[in-house]
Amino acid sequence: MGIDYKTCTEEEFKNYNGAKINYSEQFFENSIQIVPQGLLFEENIFPQQIEVADDEIWSKLFFLTSTSEIPFDIFAAAFYLLSRYEEYLPHDVDEHKRFAHQQSLAVKNNFIELPLVDAWANQFKEIILQQFPSIIHQQKAFKFLSTVDIDFAYKYNGIGLKRQVLKLGKSILQLRFNDAVEQLLVMLGSKKDPYDTYDFIHKTIDNNRLLLHYFVLMKTGTTHDKNMMLHHPLMKSTIKKLTKNYSVGLHPSYYSMEDKSVMNEKLLLENFTQLNTTKTRQHFLKFTLPQTYQLLESIGFTDDYTMAYSGISGFRASTSFPFLFFDLSKNQSSTLLLHPTIVMDVTLKNSHQFTPQQAMKKIEQLINEVKKVNGTFISLWHNSSLCEDEEWKGWREVFEKLHTLASIKTQKQID
Ligand SMILES: [Zn+2]
Repeated sequence: MGIDYKTCTEEEFKNYNGAKINYSEQFFENSIQIVPQGLLFEENIFPQQIEVADDEIWSKLFFLTSTSEIPFDIFAAAFYLLSRYEEYLPHDVDEHKRFAHQQSLAVKNNFIELPLVDAWANQFKEIILQQFPSIIHQQKAFKFLSTVDIDFAYKYNGIGLKRQVLKLGKSILQLRFNDAVEQLLVMLGSKKDPYDTYDFIHKTIDNNRLLLHYFVLMKTGTTHDKNMMLHHPLMKSTIKKLTKNYSVGLHPSYYSMEDKSVMNEKLLLENFTQLNTTKTRQHFLKFTLPQTYQLLESIGFTDDYTMAYSGISGFRASTSFPFLFFDLSKNQSSTLLLHPTIVMDVTLKNSHQFTPQQAMKKIEQLINEVKKVNGTFISLWHNSSLCEDEEWKGWREVFEKLHTLASIKTQKQID
């Protein structure tokens, strides 16, 4: 909310003359009361009785506790959503052992496309300012961050002779002669590799004066991790090139939690960049609470960008703002900052099955939601989905339009 606060004892509370929030069942004069629902005093994790109601002022709410101005326990409800409480309870997983989005409170109650906690915070701030107009508060500004995951640095270059032969054979057997010709031309050096879209990405970012973070998969040779040969000189020179002007983080591999290879992947990336790697996003957005975040934090990551669903766009934690991971299993906050990601190329195309035009419409709608609360909009693209092949035709334009729109929204508040 941009307002400083501190907690205090009952005695201090009674003697204080400034803006006060009373988080108890007891009534006190000259303060804003929020009646606790109980969640924040519990020490264990167990299923909560939740009924989500529609509301004109608060949009959606639950944990109703009062009939006053703030009719629900806004602290407990926000905590429930931000801590991802429901992901600690027994739940269904999808084919990649990820929490299945269909069962989430936000999806079931139709608020996955709303940064609900941010909207609550704004409404709450308004109530505080009405009662205590002289209070000092900071205005927030809309921010945008473009992120690109590199699962395949190149389609053909540096993948090794065996994979190249297999790829070529497959194209011929499946009568995809255009692909076979394309591969041969790339191998002969007379055509640019189709996944080499870096110049296009950088031009789009720089023209719009925006920020870009890359996340690189430092693994190859498993069913779900098929980057180029990691020790190929081209891999090293590509990463070095990206590091010059943009931030480069790790994209921990599919099995990195099970086989604990994430540390080795981090070290390898650091060896290439000669920089400390502190930013990360899980490949396949695959994470389990709290284990994944515990491990990432323990080996020195400070910022994670995985908070998103692969199967649906929107706000997994009901916020667009970065927030610290709270480990419910230990009942304590951590130092790992989670940056919610709002849209991903693959989600728009494969899960929603949108055309490029429909995708742009959805992006616009979600950007507007973030703009309303002056939050941060993070998009996720892949260098490989900007290749303009048959499958991804028209999606370069979506990427360009998204960045132009983000740039306009960012600049509007400066003028
Ligand atoms: Zn990936």
